[in-house]
Amino acid sequence: MSKTSTNGMCEHCGAGFKYQIIHNGFNESSYAYCDSCGMTALLDGWKAPQGIDIPIHQEIAPRTEPLLQPCTCGGTFKASAAPRGPRCAEVLSAEKATAWIEEDAAGTSMGWRWQRSWRGLYCIIVDDRVVHDNWCASVRAT
Ligand SMILES: [Zn+2]
Ligand SMILES: [Zn+2]
Repeated sequence: MSKTSTNGMCEHCGAGFKYQIIHNGFNESSYAYCDSCGMTALLDGWKAPQGIDIPIHQEIAPRTEPLLQPCTCGGTFKASAAPRGPRCAEVLSAEKATAWIEEDAAGTSMGWRWQRSWRGLYCIIVDDRVVHDNWCASVRAT
């Protein structure tokens, strides 16, 4: 479930996009989305700064938000934020995304069901818009 598909579709403007679904159990990772452009931040549990406890296998906790560098767009990576359409920057519906996510998964993983939420084990990367381990310099230096 980490191969790139091109079947993503924005329910607001109809724009197609490519995406990847990331299983946060394989990489012991955590994630967050930018609250203004929907960029994904992926945090590898093994690369977290010493003493920083991140909730792996799911989205970050709000306490982790201030430890991350802001997004290149000026937005903030938040536990409660959601991915956005790459063209119109409207928040995508995890419910509506079920149609194209499960269509792509059909045949690759018998009985697999999309979690229908932007929280939980899986996260999405839209149009390769991702930053990795974007810890603030102050916590990384410890
Ligand atoms: Zn759109
Ligand atoms: Zn952003």
